[in-house]
Amino acid sequence: MKLDLDLDLPPFAPGSVWLVGAGPGDPGLLSLLALHALGAADVVVYDALVDRRILRLARMGAMLDHAGKRGGKPSPQQPDITLKLIRYASEGKRVLRLKGGDPFVFGRGGEEALALAAAKIPFRIVPGITAGVGGLAYAGIPVTHRDTNSAVAFVTGHASDGDLPDGIDWTALAKGAPVLVIYMALKHLDRIAARLMAAGRDAAEPVAIISKATTPAQRVLVTALGRAGAAAAAIEPPAIVVVGPVVRFAALLAPDALR
Ligand code: SAH
Repeated sequence: MKLDLDLDLPPFAPGSVWLVGAGPGDPGLLSLLALHALGAADVVVYDALVDRRILRLARMGAMLDHAGKRGGKPSPQQPDITLKLIRYASEGKRVLRLKGGDPFVFGRGGEEALALAAAKIPFRIVPGITAGVGGLAYAGIPVTHRDTNSAVAFVTGHASDGDLPDGIDWTALAKGAPVLVIYMALKHLDRIAARLMAAGRDAAEPVAIISKATTPAQRVLVTALGRAGAAAAAIEPPAIVVVGPVVRFAALLAPDALR
């Protein structure tokens, strides 16, 4: 890979933390700032969702520190991760905090940034392509289309305690959001679909479940709201769920291999 770019990218200062979105998987979806940070970091603190091929782009000699769940071990507590970031930065390291998708979309990036701000550690946020937009695109699904929807809602199907989030008004969403993009939805998809249908959404409404979006293992399942819960059992995480008329575009716009 040779990138000869005449760009004035900001220096990655020792003692600072860059909170960077790695996108949903395909390394081609990294931003130039993310690539620049990978080439300069002393330590990369990464989550389970970050694609291996992206970690291989880290500077030779950079320390790779896994901060997510693995092999059934409990996930480290969020304060442990932020303390680690602060410690590495205080040691004068260039700390790359690499998160799947976009760091501020259901990724606790906000919590980490707040902790860095409170600790007066210099930091920069580098947005990434979120699975709920880029993952859909790789399945041929535009998140908005003038003929179908002028609004879209991004929703989490999973609260921090593992249950369906209480704070979500599913009835309001069912009525107000023609397209719902649901992260972490597999476990409770039957209950989510039931609530949406109870609030008036049609059981025949199209639903797509996109597993491992933008990676070589991407799978797209198109089903109907009334069958989505049962379908979810056969899907491997991570997966993003999209409910609404934009799903029909997949038949026209998906890469050839998927049609
Ligand atoms: N910050 C991330 C989301 C973190 S929450 C982002 O912006 O994309 C984790 C959830 O994101 C997963 O449960 C899944 O719903 C979704 N997700 C992340 N990567 C994905 C991928 N490659 N394919 C499908 N869904 C993905």
